Amino acid sequence: MRCHVVRFTTEDHGPLTLGIDAAGLWTDRPDRSWPEAELGDGVVYPGLVDGHAHLTSNEVSDMTGTSRDDGLAARIARHASSQLAHGVLLVADKGTHDPGTVELTLDLPPEQRPAAQLAGRFLAGVDGYYPHLAVEVAPGGLAGAVDAATPEQATWVKLIGDWPRRGVGAVPSFTEAELAAGVAAAHASGRRVAIHTAAPETPGRAVRAGVDSIEHGLFLTEDDLLRLGERGGAWVPTVRAMELLVAALGEDSSGGRLLREGLDNVKGLLPHAAAAGVVIMAGTDLALGHGEVAREAKGLVACGMAEADVLIALTSGPRAYLGEPAFAPGSCADLIVVPAADVASLAMPRLVVRCGRVVVDARV
Ligand SMILES: [Zn+2]
Repeated sequence: MRCHVVRFTTEDHGPLTLGIDAAGLWTDRPDRSWPEAELGDGVVYPGLVDGHAHLTSNEVSDMTGTSRDDGLAARIARHASSQLAHGVLLVADKGTHDPGTVELTLDLPPEQRPAAQLAGRFLAGVDGYYPHLAVEVAPGGLAGAVDAATPEQATWVKLIGDWPRRGVGAVPSFTEAELAAGVAAAHASGRRVAIHTAAPETPGRAVRAGVDSIEHGLFLTEDDLLRLGERGGAWVPTVRAMELLVAALGEDSSGGRLLREGLDNVKGLLPHAAAAGVVIMAGTDLALGHGEVAREAKGLVACGMAEADVLIALTSGPRAYLGEPAFAPGSCADLIVVPAADVASLAMPRLVVRCGRVVVDARV
């Protein structure tokens, strides 16, 4: 679709006439000789956003060992390609076991992967994650670890805020002061912080410490939500991933019961999150396949979020939060066309264009 003129209307931007230049970028000065591209019927979005993915993996067992295995680059390319095939054109990768992930991902040509913002290696407490997958941080060492363990091109820092211990349940890995020091170190280098939280104490601690994005956040409170919303912070509840985890642990296990209690809490909070100013993002995590973020959208609706808010959570909301412009001259020419402006349609893109390249064309 390069060297074409495109006319369309979007909910957020109104009617637009833009060109896609030879480099696959939007231009507001299309050449007069360029033909007009036909998008077909449907609703245009700048692409779906997966706010919590791990491009290295489909499941935890993919993250075996601490060194880069030969298959990592191929796996990242495969997962990136399946994100594109579903119309996911922007991904926030929330952590990896392998420090080479950031470079391997960003080295892929932009038209072969979604736009990507990535965290480096997971930072956890001692014994605070799956063995060998995280950088284990001794008490008091978080700020130093943020500086030492974050790859140059990483724009996020991912903390594992708590982790279950046998017979005790999920235990926080960092004090509020440690988290605040870690956040300060990340912000000093222009990075954002995301934190895995499943234990009851962790999300409140993280919100007070200034963490940017709360992942899972099963035990956020209304006060936490207001505080997070005041600074325009983000929450990625990953409800499908949490439901699958409950099923894996067993509804009647102690872990399963705690997670179920957390999910019930999430259902009480999600309908109010957007009004509180919190940026809700949908994430696949390791539970849904790469590209299947529209399934999480259905999960958010099932948790009581208004459908209009869910559409924003999959598209314009996280784009604005992540600072990735939509339809802006000079940026990658990205768009998808779905049948209608409803959540069910997000899973059925008829046309996917990434950097001016047609990735999917299922128009009839
Ligand atoms: Zn995750």
